[in-house]
Amino acid sequence: MATAVSTPTMDPNVSAFVSAKRKLFINGKFVDAASGKTFPTFNPATGEVLANVAEGDREDINRAVKAARAAFDTGAWSKMPTAQRGKLIWKLADLIEKYQEEFAQLESLDNGKPLKISRVADVPLTVEHMRYYAGWATKIEGNTIPLILRERSKFLAYTLREPIGVVGQIIPWNFPLLMAAWKLGPALAAGCTVILKPAEQTPLSALRLAELIQEAGFPDGVVNIVPGYGETAGAALSAHPDVDKIAFTGSTEVGKLILQAAAGNLKKVSLELGGKSPNIVLDDADLDSTIPGAASAIFFNHGQCCCAGSRLFVEKKIFDKVVDGVSQIAEKIQVKAGFEPDSDMGPLVSEEQMNKVCGYMESGISEGAKAVTGGARHGNKGYFVKPTVLVNTNDKMKVVQEEIFGPVVTAIPFSDPSEIVARANDTIYGLAAGVWTSDIKKAHSIAAKLRAGTVWINCYNIFDPALPFGGYKQSGWGREMGHEVLENYTEVKSVCAALD
Ligand code: NAP
Ligand code: MG
Repeated sequence: MATAVSTPTMDPNVSAFVSAKRKLFINGKFVDAASGKTFPTFNPATGEVLANVAEGDREDINRAVKAARAAFDTGAWSKMPTAQRGKLIWKLADLIEKYQEEFAQLESLDNGKPLKISRVADVPLTVEHMRYYAGWATKIEGNTIPLILRERSKFLAYTLREPIGVVGQIIPWNFPLLMAAWKLGPALAAGCTVILKPAEQTPLSALRLAELIQEAGFPDGVVNIVPGYGETAGAALSAHPDVDKIAFTGSTEVGKLILQAAAGNLKKVSLELGGKSPNIVLDDADLDSTIPGAASAIFFNHGQCCCAGSRLFVEKKIFDKVVDGVSQIAEKIQVKAGFEPDSDMGPLVSEEQMNKVCGYMESGISEGAKAVTGGARHGNKGYFVKPTVLVNTNDKMKVVQEEIFGPVVTAIPFSDPSEIVARANDTIYGLAAGVWTSDIKKAHSIAAKLRAGTVWINCYNIFDPALPFGGYKQSGWGREMGHEVLENYTEVKSVCAALD
C-alpha cells in the first residue's frame, strides 16, 4: 500500500491516482506485469513512497512490441487518413489541457519540481508540442526528382516519406511528461506505433497520459506505455528484434549501451544525451538581463536540464560583478517542497541524484574550488541541494568537464576573447551554449564557432516546438523538434518509373 500523501491543495483525482496500483498500458488496456511485480515511486520531498507501479520487464516488452507491430502492420494508424490522425493527436492535446492541473501536480509530486514550474512550463509546453505535431501529420510529403543522367521526360521519379515502423522510446525523469510528448508527438504524426518506457523515478504522468490516449480513442496498440527499470525493460526494448527504431533521451553512458543493444537488428537510433554547456558573458553585455539570465540558465529545474548553462565563462573585467549577482540570486532561491506555494526549487529527483551532485561539489572543493554560495545538501529530509556557485576551478577538473545535472555552476574568468571558443568547446559534449553581448557581430561570430546544437544569444532555455534541439559530439545523434525530428521517424522511398 502506498503511503497516503496529504497536501492541502492536492487535487482529489491525483490522490486517487497515486493511491491505486498503477498498471502497464499495453494494447489499449491497463494490465499487470507478467511477473506480477511492482516497484515504488517516491516523493523526493519526503523520501516516502508515492505510488506503486507494475514493473514491466522483458515479457511485457514482448507483449507491447507485439501489439505495436500488429497496430502498425494492419495500418490502423499508418494508413489512417492523416487528417484524422492529426485530429486525434490534437484531441489528446485538448485532453491534457483539460486535466492540466492534475498533470502539474503529478509531475511535482513524482519529480519534486515546484508546482508553479510544472504549471507554467512542463504542462503547457506539452500541450503546444502535441498541437504542433498534430499539424505535421498532414504535411509529411516527398518530392518529385528530375533525373540528371537521363532524358527527363522518359522517367518519373519521386520520393515517399513513410513511417519507420515500430518505435521504442526511452525517456528520463527531468521533464517526464514533456519528454513523453517530445517523443510521442512526431512519432505519431509520422504514422509510427510506439512502446514508451518512462524513467523508473517518474512513471506517473506517462500513465495518466495513457488514460487520455484511451479516452481520445487511439486504436489499440498504437501507444503502449511500459514503466520498469532501464537494465531490464529498457534493455529488452533496445535489443528487441522486432523494433525498427529506438529514440532515447538520457545519459551519454546509457546512450552507448543503447547503441550496442540496437546493433543486433541494426534498428535506427536517435540519441539526445548529456551536456556541459558553456554560457559566455562578454564585458559589453547588458548585466541587468545577463545576470538573471545566467542564474536561470543553471538553476531552472534545479539544473536537471541536459542543456543547463553549467560553465559560466565571464570576461575578467566584469567577473566579480557577475559572480556576485548570480550568487545573490542563488541565495534568494526558496528551496522547498514543490507543493509549497513559494518554492522556487524543489528536491532533486532521488537520493542517488542528490548524492551524485553532492559528490561533485565535494570533489571540486577538494581540488581547490571555492563555493561562493551553497556547496552542500539543504536540510536533512528529502533530497534538497543548495544552489551553488563554484569559483577557482580549472578547465580540467571533473566539476568543469562532467555533467553534474544539479544546481551547480562553475564560474570561470577569461581575459582573451579570442581563446574563449576553444575553451568553451573543450568537453566531450556539444548540446547548447549561451552568448551574452551587446555586439551583434561578436555574438554571431562566436555562435558560428561553437560546436553546439543550440546557441542562445542574450537569452537561455528558450524552447519552441518549431526549433530543432539536439547535440554535436557526444551529446547525441539526430534532432528533436522542428521538422528535423520527423526524419527520425520516417524512411525515404525513391520510386522511379520508366515512361516509355
Ligand atoms: P539514464 O540512466 O540515462 O536514464 C534514462 C532512461 O534510460 C531511463 O528511462 C532509464 O531507465 C533508461 N535506461 C537506463 N539504463 C538502460 C539500459 N541499459 N538500457 C536501456 N535503457 C536504460 O539517466 P538517469 O539515471 O536518469 O540519470 C543519470 C544521468 O543522466 C544524470 O545525472 C544526467 O547526467 C543524465 N541525464 C541526462 C538527461 C538529458 O536530458 N540529456 C536526462 C536525464 C539524465 P531507469 O529509469 O530505470 O534508469
Ligand atoms: Mg518519484
